[in-house]
Amino acid sequence: MQFEQQADFRVLVDQYPRAIMIANKEPRITYVNRMFHSVTGFQPDEVMGESPSVLSAGLHAPDFYQIMWRSLIDNGRWEGMVWNRKKSGEIYPQWLSIYSMGSEGQRGYVGMFMDMGKRDGADARLASLAYYDPLTELPNRLLFQEFLKARVSQRAREGARLAVLFIDLDFFKSVNDLHGHEFGDGVLQQAALCIQSVVGKDDVLARLSGDEFAVIVELSGQDELNEVCQRMVQAFRAPIVVGDREYFLSASVGATVYPTHGKSGAELLQKADRALYAAKLAGRACFRIYSEIEDEQGRRAQQLSEALTTSLKTSTDEFHVVYQPQYDLCSGKVVGMEALLRWNHPEFGPVSPAEFVPLAERRGQIHEMTQQLVRAILSDLRSDPPDLSGKFRLAINISARQMTDARLHLVIGPLFARIREIGWVPEIEITETHIMQLSGQCLDSLRAFRDQGVLIAIDDFGTGYSSLAYLQELPVQVLKIDRQFISSLATKNRDSRIVSAIIGIGEALELELVAEGIETQSQYQELQKLGCERGQGFLMATPQPWQAVRATIVDSYQ
Ligand code: C2E
Ligand code: MG
Ligand code: MG
Repeated sequence: MQFEQQADFRVLVDQYPRAIMIANKEPRITYVNRMFHSVTGFQPDEVMGESPSVLSAGLHAPDFYQIMWRSLIDNGRWEGMVWNRKKSGEIYPQWLSIYSMGSEGQRGYVGMFMDMGKRDGADARLASLAYYDPLTELPNRLLFQEFLKARVSQRAREGARLAVLFIDLDFFKSVNDLHGHEFGDGVLQQAALCIQSVVGKDDVLARLSGDEFAVIVELSGQDELNEVCQRMVQAFRAPIVVGDREYFLSASVGATVYPTHGKSGAELLQKADRALYAAKLAGRACFRIYSEIEDEQGRRAQQLSEALTTSLKTSTDEFHVVYQPQYDLCSGKVVGMEALLRWNHPEFGPVSPAEFVPLAERRGQIHEMTQQLVRAILSDLRSDPPDLSGKFRLAINISARQMTDARLHLVIGPLFARIREIGWVPEIEITETHIMQLSGQCLDSLRAFRDQGVLIAIDDFGTGYSSLAYLQELPVQVLKIDRQFISSLATKNRDSRIVSAIIGIGEALELELVAEGIETQSQYQELQKLGCERGQGFLMATPQPWQAVRATIVDSYQ
């Protein structure tokens, strides 16, 4: 080609900070510039006369090149990311621009490229902005997708397996909220190093967004995936150190395997995300490998979760409250009741609070949910609450997650005021598994309630890991024995002894005991024998709407 002979052009092209390669129509390489050697490692005489495919890493499927040629013919140019191989054998991502030049019969091609893995030099920095995350210096989502596409098509030919791990830091948002973004950035950088320490040098780690990371893991053995996932979750057990502070973080992991769970990179990533969702549902700080069944459950949870968001905003009439009376097991009198929220969705039908309360917690809508609870109870109490002697109680369930919410007192304050106004005593129930995790701030909030004359009960006692030393410090007056111990009370000797032991703990700590889930006469009698004072359960009364429970209470006092 003529301009190659021209000295000025030669200097310009040789000094150009990108590798330049010219090929003829066949195509055979007819020229490379000086930069070509630094990028690829090949000397000019090693590639001259060869097909440009000597540079190829063999990672791209045939249709990739078909699209490239189509665009060259139609538009005279093509630009994009290509995986190529250096002389050393190293495979690297290359940003490539190709132009077609000359006229029919005399057509040739110019390719200009650079190593995107190398991020020195102004040009490379520009490319790195588009493909790398500046905070962690890891590949971003775009580059990760390219890696994944390339590796999948390589595996397709080799018949080998690989895994995709989707990693999400648990409750990362609260790190930012509590300690500021600068600290949050530090945590993300340390988290990236933590993940890096688990994966191999041929694995690809990327930061997809916010607190989401992904890894392509090369698999050799059968159990390897389980091991890697396990190590990933465990790597977060140690505190993360940022500056002079330690921070305890955990991560959830979802994983998929090629080709079992998907044939394309996009499908693998999407299903890994769904497996991650299952790990979150399972309580976080754990991993899940993709499973069809779990995916189905996850989908329902997600649909419900979306429906819940909408209903809490726009269809508040879908929520109402039922009340389960609580009895004095000696006298058989109703001495209080527990309010239980109900949600009746037009499409999903009645949804159990055991299902929707955790969803509301996860979506950060527990406040809106409690608003509905309060609204419904206040509306019931408007119609003629029975006038009862001093100590009749009305209990509501509060999620521990809500204890730190400054709006809690605002939303339940009016309810408690109304309960006092009619001469009853307000009570809050908090599940045992949660109460042990309450921070100092939450405990202060509980104490504030107690000081206002609100009773505090530990719900589902026996299912958590209460420390007795800690229990003693809590502003609590009531223990509710979980119904799993009551259900086999009269049939399993061991459960009688457990209940008896719980009653012993309650007495030692001067707490009142309430048995939940009494379903049979023999359970009732056994509890009486063991000295339990109060109880609730289907035997005496199921949870009922306001008018029905009102009649039950009035009857009991006649
Ligand atoms: P919980 O507070 O332990 O409530 C007792 C649950 O046991 C209720 O289920 C009640 O219907 C059921 N139950 C009562 N007696 C018996 C019995 O004899 N046998 C059996 N098998 N079950 C009995 P429900 O209403 O489905 O509520 C489930 C859980 O959802 C509650 O457990 C509570 O933790 C939560 N929850 C309900 N309403 C609310 C609410 O307004 N706010 C919050 N944060 N949580 C709520
Ligand atoms: Mg309860
Ligand atoms: Mg309970």
